[in-house]
Amino acid sequence: MKPKTPEFAAPSDAAERRAVVPVVCYPPETLTPPNLKGLARLRQSAKKTDEVTVAPRDGACIDVPAGCFFRIVSVEGAQVGDLNIWNSADLTERFYSGKTRALHGTHLSTGDRMWSSFPTLRPMATITADTLDWYGFDAFGGSVHDVIGTRCDPYTGQLLSGTSYHHCCHSNLTRALADHCNLTLSDAEAHVHDVLNVFMCTGFTRDTGQYFMKASPVRPGDYLEFHAEIDLTVGLSACPGGDCSQEHSSDATTCYPLLIEVFDPGKAARAAHSPPAPSSYDRTHGVG
Ligand SMILES: [Zn+2]
Repeated sequence: MKPKTPEFAAPSDAAERRAVVPVVCYPPETLTPPNLKGLARLRQSAKKTDEVTVAPRDGACIDVPAGCFFRIVSVEGAQVGDLNIWNSADLTERFYSGKTRALHGTHLSTGDRMWSSFPTLRPMATITADTLDWYGFDAFGGSVHDVIGTRCDPYTGQLLSGTSYHHCCHSNLTRALADHCNLTLSDAEAHVHDVLNVFMCTGFTRDTGQYFMKASPVRPGDYLEFHAEIDLTVGLSACPGGDCSQEHSSDATTCYPLLIEVFDPGKAARAAHSPPAPSSYDRTHGVG
């Protein structure tokens, strides 16, 4: 946090320096946009082939083949979800929330991609529908589906309050991945990563730049839908924070399940889909 009373005096040209107009780090025109119309056509003919219900304060994983769609649906009540995705053939290729934030901004919606970690750095999934896209940014600077938070976890709880809570999203995702891929808990935990906070409404306070959350505007029936660019293992935790209006990392809040549905556009459409190529950087890092 920036100090309220700075230690150092402002220079004489402080106003001038502050008045410099910012430039967007990664202008969106440097990225090839997804073919949303083509994806919408494919989606129309897709049939539901699989689903999993994520129990409140718990996690679940499901496999989504490349070319299929998956939808995260709010059911029963307002609930946020912490999403991890992995290349199902290589769990070390996983969602890179920080780079996705740099490329698309703090909150994701239709047309944005979920990018993978180095050295592949390629789109793993493309958002194709978002029933909360009407929300935009509210008067507090808050918006929905952020890539600025990390995931609630037992280590931060231990650090800040000395308590051990086992149903944080980090632990829920760890147990779910261990079950799904038949891994030990410690092997699975090493693959759990920073999330896309599905349905969560967050921002930074304007005066102090602190991360805030507020009651999610999600209602049963709302959904966020994705096109799988590569073969994916999708992990989701129904956060113990519920709608995140008050607190997380405890059993105090009312929580609801979340549903993940998979839709298959058919064998021919999947065969016609080409997964994005991994980054072409040669990885010599200037040596040789
Ligand atoms: Zn959580």
